[in-house]
Amino acid sequence: MKIMLCFNSQIIKKPLIAEVILETGALVNINKATIDITGGELIINVPDEDAKKVIKSFKSRGVDIITLEKPIVRTDEECVHCGVCISVCPTNVFKYEADGSVSMDHKECIQCGACITACPHNALKLSR
Ligand code: SF4
Ligand code: SF4
Repeated sequence: MKIMLCFNSQIIKKPLIAEVILETGALVNINKATIDITGGELIINVPDEDAKKVIKSFKSRGVDIITLEKPIVRTDEECVHCGVCISVCPTNVFKYEADGSVSMDHKECIQCGACITACPHNALKLSR
């Protein structure tokens, strides 16, 4: 499961990720991190079976949590299945189906934003 962690400036210096991994034993994988002295946002990938305890552990440390069921959202009416997103996505979220349509595997998205910039029809946006 993809989870967004929002840190404020009060807790940004604490080794929270290390603490949560040690406490839960979960294999937490960091997909994206934006951090400065005012706070930070991280997107992590956690095995589904560990998600509840990881979320609980982060919340107990003052971290705000947003679960990303679908990290990227497509407005299907705008998509013309041109395939540009297939060529720019670093994690192979998009692929052509046999009928020529472009399908999506949301769980691979790391919210890098490359497809949003590339899509000629503005069909894609990041979810929050
Ligand atoms: S780049 Fe945009 S219009 Fe083209 S297939 Fe991807 S989502 Fe659809
Ligand atoms: S945001 Fe990045 S990882 Fe996610 S679908 Fe778009 S290009 Fe792929």
